[in-house]
Amino acid sequence: MMSAINIYLCTLFFKSKSSMIKITLPDNSVREFESGITGYDIAESISSRLAKEVLSISVDGAVWDLSRPIHKDTSIKLFQWDDREGKETFWHSSAHLTAEAIEFFYPGTKFGIGPTVDNGFYYDIDLPEGQQLVEKDLEKIEKKIIELAREKHDIVRKEISKKDALAMFSAKGDNLKVELISELEDGTITVYNQGNFTDLCRGPHLPNTGFIKAVKLTSIAGAYWRGNEKNKMLTRVYGITFPKQKMLEEYLILLEEAKKRDHRKIGKEMELFTFSQNVGQGLPMWLPKGAMLREQLEIFLKRVQKKFGYEQVITPHIGDVNLYKTSGHFQKYGADSFQTIKTPAEGEEYMLKPMNCPHHCELYKFKPHSYKDLPVRFAEFGTVYRYEQSGELHGLTRVRGFTQDDAHLFCRPDQIKDEFKKVIDIIFIIFKALNFENYSAQISLRDPNKPEKYIGSKENWDKAEQAIIEASAEKGLKTVTVLGEAAFYGPKLDFMVKDALGRSWQLGTIQVDYNLPERFELEYIGADDKRHRPVMIHRAPFGSMERFVAVLIEHTVGKFPLWLTPDQVVVLPISEKFNEYAKSVSEFLNNSDIRTIIDDRNEKIGRKIRDNELKRIPYLLIVGEQEAESQCVSVRKQGEGDKGSMGHQAFVDFIKAEVKEQLSSLYN
Ligand SMILES: [Zn+2]
Ligand SMILES: [Zn+2]
Repeated sequence: MMSAINIYLCTLFFKSKSSMIKITLPDNSVREFESGITGYDIAESISSRLAKEVLSISVDGAVWDLSRPIHKDTSIKLFQWDDREGKETFWHSSAHLTAEAIEFFYPGTKFGIGPTVDNGFYYDIDLPEGQQLVEKDLEKIEKKIIELAREKHDIVRKEISKKDALAMFSAKGDNLKVELISELEDGTITVYNQGNFTDLCRGPHLPNTGFIKAVKLTSIAGAYWRGNEKNKMLTRVYGITFPKQKMLEEYLILLEEAKKRDHRKIGKEMELFTFSQNVGQGLPMWLPKGAMLREQLEIFLKRVQKKFGYEQVITPHIGDVNLYKTSGHFQKYGADSFQTIKTPAEGEEYMLKPMNCPHHCELYKFKPHSYKDLPVRFAEFGTVYRYEQSGELHGLTRVRGFTQDDAHLFCRPDQIKDEFKKVIDIIFIIFKALNFENYSAQISLRDPNKPEKYIGSKENWDKAEQAIIEASAEKGLKTVTVLGEAAFYGPKLDFMVKDALGRSWQLGTIQVDYNLPERFELEYIGADDKRHRPVMIHRAPFGSMERFVAVLIEHTVGKFPLWLTPDQVVVLPISEKFNEYAKSVSEFLNNSDIRTIIDDRNEKIGRKIRDNELKRIPYLLIVGEQEAESQCVSVRKQGEGDKGSMGHQAFVDFIKAEVKEQLSSLYN
């Protein structure tokens, strides 16, 4: 009896004296709670609505389960559906639930990994001998997932020893998990259990399965265990879940629309680019119309850049391996990318160019520079080659060879802000000419707590970060600032555009670099007659031609602006009788620099109009007897219909005015 009271008193004493902890919220306000408080309790203390919507919590930067007790003073952030971390917690928990449902139907399945991806999650599974999963099986699994979700099983975290973990998954016969566990350190292993399913996992997870209200298992694919083709081929099940049924319905509509806009599909229809297994995977080849599109983009950007004082340079596709040892790129790309090429007699070793920067540094060193010469701005449409695993390749967005719209600006430290403003101007011109209206930017700065991570003096970093912040503000750019996201060699500014479907794409980047000027010992002579290091700025507004064209196709469904589109006009003779006249019209337009083709197939005019509208050609000129007699053309505009008839020169002027209007940001 006595001892029970003692324990009671002890606990009371412990609670009242030393068990309060300080929790700092994102707005820097501090609240006191009892030690052992959970993220969920904190949310509830703020508002019951927040408690309903919160999905996970970050504790000193690490994302945790809401149900995990907190025992020390800490800074926290609560994540909801709109936060990336919130979605990740949601989707990753859904991967576990999917595994549970799969295990229900296919006992003995071994489970590999089940991470989140941009839109949802997947799980790599090894089905029992002789069993396989096909599309039509997905529906019953989806139903089971919802059934399990409705049962609202708690998802419980448990720390276990390596020995126990090995025993647990060995007993289950899951050699995939056993392999993963054997590589983990004892003392760091956690498992999560919900209902009848336990999974090895670092977490975090939702408090219970009841949050998951809607699911779609989107596809099944094959995937080698751990991405290694020497390993067994597993079954990868992709899925996505939502906290509301309506969100799933909206997502499915978006998915349908995205399929229609898939750049791989449109690229084929419009004959823009192709791949050939005989050439090699991940190596896009541009067909004549795609090459025309690229050429127009290049001409456009070269003109913009010329206006801003850039000079075009050309450098080779390979470089001596020592060049990349100097730049540090060999350490980064050497072993993990294409292997070096050797010469037969001299024993030289070359690398396929993974970056253009080292070449441009050597160009800078061609002659001495005075402070008055700076900035020096070298631009190049430079093709680079980087190895990507075959499973990662995707259309034009993930390739092994691509052309960057690269440039390197060598400037004095006091010129950084001005140069940033100019690059932002260039990016604005591009976005305007290509109708990207919805964009924002991210400023990536140092992690103030880890100064040792960064090269270059604190003073230079302070100045450069300030310059980027001020340049962005003065240009009226909508930005978010993220600490700790800067590269070790300098802060940067990344542009994100939202396409017509509201999907975000990262496009242009502007990056300050203190590292390469140091490594290449770049210099200029200052006003003080002494040697100084220039600052280097890397920038690529398109990113790469391949990726940019992919985004452009998906944004516009292949309906490019008139100035850019490969075929601007198609002439459609009403019958064979007018083919000659059509030819003369097309010649006149082509001579006036309007990209024009003829459709002289022996087809009805209605059919010709339909076919050419499908080809996304902006202007259709219909010519028959009346037009031939009065030397004019009947103009039809894609999406707008009949525009009346015009004389040849009048039509040229009309088209040119439209192009000029579209490119007004370049001319102003
Ligand atoms: Zn997990
Ligand atoms: Zn560069």
